[in-house]
Amino acid sequence: MSLADITARIHAAEQKAGRPQGATELIAISKVQPLERVEAVLTEGHRIFGENKVQEAAGKWPELQDRFGACKLHLVGPLQSNKTRQAMELFQVIHTVDRPKLARAIARIADETGSCPDLFIQVNTGEEDQKAGVSPADVDGFVSECLALNLPVIGLMCIPPVDEEPNLHFALLAKFAERNGLAGLSMGMSGDFERAIALGATHVRVGSAIFGERTTG
Ligand SMILES: *Cc1c(COP(=O)(O)O)cnc(C)c1O
Repeated sequence: MSLADITARIHAAEQKAGRPQGATELIAISKVQPLERVEAVLTEGHRIFGENKVQEAAGKWPELQDRFGACKLHLVGPLQSNKTRQAMELFQVIHTVDRPKLARAIARIADETGSCPDLFIQVNTGEEDQKAGVSPADVDGFVSECLALNLPVIGLMCIPPVDEEPNLHFALLAKFAERNGLAGLSMGMSGDFERAIALGATHVRVGSAIFGERTTG
């Protein structure tokens, strides 16, 4: 699929849900894609991208932005505390705040530098052992903790279990966000972004549907 096709599908889903066009931000997830595919999407004019590893992004995006101009970069993969500073320099949005230690590290660096990316708190809606994110029972407490640190939390993010109906997880995430007064919902990937938009996604993270299948990662 091309970028234009995906954008058209997003607009159709927004319309069907009675939401304004442009209510959903399309994050093109460029992790492990060959550079020429990323360059092609940049050439088409897209400027919002996501990566799941700090190291990989650091090796690719400074040079791409030199050539194509500034992009809005989203970190959608797990963040190790020792890479917090580097991530905060490189990304405008971090979707994977998931523990007090990381929240405190971000707050400390934000105090020192006077700037902080927008943040999503990742919720492990499926309570999967192998998946990052705060458990549903801890969401409200962790949101309060982050807000008490003056962190710019704009919403919640989830990655539903692969073998479950994603709608249940999207609806749950929307409920948690509403209850906490958060407007942002980062949910929906290549296989389910239209369903996520129907349930209120403000940010969809679409990789393979734009760039083609990944060979690794
Ligand atoms: C890779 C990835 C995506 C994109 O997945 P696709 O199925 O290729 O659209 C979205 N979100 C996260 C967190 C990812 O790691």
